Amino acid sequence: MGKPNILERLAAGEVIIGDGSYAVTLEKRGYVKAGSWTPEAAPEHPGAVEQLAIEFSRAGADVTQTFSFWCHEKSLPKGCKYSCDEINQVSCDIAKKIAKKYGTITAGGLSQTGNFARWTAKEDVQKDLRRAVNILVKNDIDLIICEYFRNIKEMEWAIEVALETGKPVAATMCMGPTGDEEGVTVGECAIRMAKAGAQLVGVNCLFDPPMLLEVIKDMKTSLDLFNLKPYLMVQPLGFMCPDGGSYGWVNLPEFPFACEPRQITRWEARKFAREAYDMGVRYIGGCCGFEPYHIRAICEELRDIRGRKIPESSDKSDYDLSTHKELESKFERYKNKGSEQWWKDMAPSTGRPMSTPFCRQTEPTCVHRAIFKK
Ligand SMILES: [Zn+2]
Repeated sequence: MGKPNILERLAAGEVIIGDGSYAVTLEKRGYVKAGSWTPEAAPEHPGAVEQLAIEFSRAGADVTQTFSFWCHEKSLPKGCKYSCDEINQVSCDIAKKIAKKYGTITAGGLSQTGNFARWTAKEDVQKDLRRAVNILVKNDIDLIICEYFRNIKEMEWAIEVALETGKPVAATMCMGPTGDEEGVTVGECAIRMAKAGAQLVGVNCLFDPPMLLEVIKDMKTSLDLFNLKPYLMVQPLGFMCPDGGSYGWVNLPEFPFACEPRQITRWEARKFAREAYDMGVRYIGGCCGFEPYHIRAICEELRDIRGRKIPESSDKSDYDLSTHKELESKFERYKNKGSEQWWKDMAPSTGRPMSTPFCRQTEPTCVHRAIFKK
């Protein structure tokens, strides 16, 4: 008997912890170019991609996702020496190597074709998606994640293609509380993803953890009404953007080069993990901006329901604040620093006297625009 697959583990009551961002994290480390966000770093600097995958595994992630963010040959940057197939093959090789060492589940993403609006024929879109899924099948990747779709119809077509592989299929839309790009409600999107056959259903990217939990809450209400019981999954953005537009953080003036002050803290990651778990979410991970220490914080927070299992890298983490409790007892300047509540209640400052809590963009989709009135 082989090791249990993700569906068997979920059925046994396990909470699966996903990994975090590759493209956004590797951009900061000097291996990915912002704007193109393509994954040629896999063959160019396999050591860098592997190191990040190691860090997520050491942080407790149960999943290693291939760094094969779907790209078309023509979307590769000028002068790229590798084809999409070559890039994706190396990405799969790296994920398999990590899975062998750390026992993680390999996952491969299938994302929007970018041509949905132009290609109205289902066959054309599916032909493109099938090309993307082939490399994952060829490498026997454990889980197919249809992610980052903005239109529920394209998502349904993707789920159909993913199910042809016979692998477990997860489906997460990138949308905020206002629904997909055509205004289909989040509740209807959830129902349609579940009815299309995805075993895990939820949202990823673009919006911050509190906002995506609101979306999940709506999804759950609708799924319950229709008596549909897919596992819930959430992989939010690692940046706070309640003032985002329909494309979430992409609409912020700070995107993509000045978002650092909006980075979530490890305590915000912990609060998110607890709320997601209490809400019934059973696949909890991160998307752009989720660094290994955020994933570690999620695992540390949920240690009570994960059999007290602590990630390898928690050796260097003061997750129970025992070190800071000691410091607090000795030094006045460490006052409060040993209190978990102190950190969880923290509203971090930006350190910039002229910065505002929100940007004043004209088309916020979530906060009421009245708050921007002078
Ligand atoms: Zn993302």
